[in-house]
Amino acid sequence: MTMNNQGRPTRTDGATATDARTFTGNKALQIEEALSFEFGDFAGTGVDMPEPEGTFDRLGGLNRNSEIGLPGLSEPETMRHFVRLSQKNYAIDMGPFPLGSCTMKHNPRLNEKVARLPGFSDLHPLAPQSASQGALELIDALAFWLKEMTGMPAVAMSPKAGAHGELCGMMAIKSAIEARGEGDKRTRVLAPESAHGTNPATAVQCGFKVDSIPADDTGRVDLAALKDKLGDDVAGIMVTNPNTCGLFERDIRAIADAVHEAGGYFYCDGANFNAIAGKAKPGDLGVDAMHINLHKTFSTPHGGGGPGSGPTVFSEALAPYAPVPYVVHKDGEYKLIESRKAAKADGDSAESFGRLTAFHGQMGMFVRALAYMLSHGIDGVRQAAEDAVLNANYVQARLKAEMTPAFEGYCMHEALFDDRFLKDTGVETIDFAKAMIDEGYHPMTMYFPLVVHGAMLIEPTESESKRELDLFCDALLSLARRAKSGDEVEAFKAAPVHSPRRRLDETAAARKPVLRWTPSNLEAAE
Ligand SMILES: *Cc1c(COP(=O)(O)O)cnc(C)c1O
Repeated sequence: MTMNNQGRPTRTDGATATDARTFTGNKALQIEEALSFEFGDFAGTGVDMPEPEGTFDRLGGLNRNSEIGLPGLSEPETMRHFVRLSQKNYAIDMGPFPLGSCTMKHNPRLNEKVARLPGFSDLHPLAPQSASQGALELIDALAFWLKEMTGMPAVAMSPKAGAHGELCGMMAIKSAIEARGEGDKRTRVLAPESAHGTNPATAVQCGFKVDSIPADDTGRVDLAALKDKLGDDVAGIMVTNPNTCGLFERDIRAIADAVHEAGGYFYCDGANFNAIAGKAKPGDLGVDAMHINLHKTFSTPHGGGGPGSGPTVFSEALAPYAPVPYVVHKDGEYKLIESRKAAKADGDSAESFGRLTAFHGQMGMFVRALAYMLSHGIDGVRQAAEDAVLNANYVQARLKAEMTPAFEGYCMHEALFDDRFLKDTGVETIDFAKAMIDEGYHPMTMYFPLVVHGAMLIEPTESESKRELDLFCDALLSLARRAKSGDEVEAFKAAPVHSPRRRLDETAAARKPVLRWTPSNLEAAE
């Protein structure tokens, strides 16, 4: 296997175990499924209707002269096709999804029910404001609670994902720096080595140079190294807190003060707000801008389950540069301020950087997030954060018996392990993760954060019961013992054996994606 310098394999050497072969390719009741274009009958159609009578051709001679090229499937074939495809998607409604940093928690059905109320679900984004007062009130209420929980005076609701929220925050920072006349001078953004990949990507997208800050040996930002890097060319810093090692940055206030003293802004990646919601307010920590992933902290479905939503909160210093649109509530009426011109007309002298996206954000997610907040109450949100941290520490404490936590001490909402426990076993992190699939678990986050060799980052969230956590831990402990026994290297290298597909060439899939089906059937039909 070829490895990169973080110990992540960049090329597999192929699966080694023999495949259990069946005539159909099916594995028990897991049914193989080709593309509908591959098995559809292009000549026929799935429905049998009589030629309509009494119609005449209104196409003025522009009639199709070749087959339309869509697969003709019967209704039952069509149903089966999509149901089988849906079963290939592992989901939080199917089992634990321990991906660290992704916060795959249960999406309460109450939220789904509320989001489907016709008044919300049927509302068109271009409906007049007079007919959308309830929706605007909901955005305003959610904005209020986000500001309240973060202790920040302003929020932009339109960003549509965490990374989009980062872009929003960094664009505000850029505007603020340009307004100070320092646009040409402050071109550097600092980010810790353990930063989520979206942080440096966002900074570069905004035209900044990224300078990486090392971690100390407790997995946190090295404060002295950070101070050495500060200067009058620094626009700001991007720090995730709790960080991607699942640890709270103890020096967070000192970091904020040092950056402010140097004239920079403090962007906090708040994707992991779920670990501190109701416990700590980023506004008290000196944060200038922070996105909140509603799809993590407030349980709205994500990944294959739905779109994200990443509202960004702002300090007094950055609030004037926040994007449009935003909602104002005046004289018993809700109004969406949609442009800088409208803001000026409304008496707002702020220098908004403009518009980030069409419309006003992910309305369906706003409804779910507010339903989550209101059904939990602030005590419930706080308890969710406490339970998330408790569950992660429970997993860390149990797995410590066979696996090696990357850092000493308690963690926050996720438990980070390295691959020291696999040393000299011949089994790598990737093999361990693939063996988890055979046990019926989606693997944890692997090889991230990069500061740890062969990293395995587990985030159980608060929504797993003790029974589920115990089964999960028992399964991982058993895998760790098998790996260390030395007798099963082959079995680990061959895993997963029970899944419909075995080891895929992920590098080729990422570098040379095949995005277009080649219509060999069509060519044959022509
Ligand atoms: C999830 C996450 C992001 C990105 O959020 P998206 O909604 O996937 O764009 C950024 N930073 C951290 C720390 C995250 O966990």
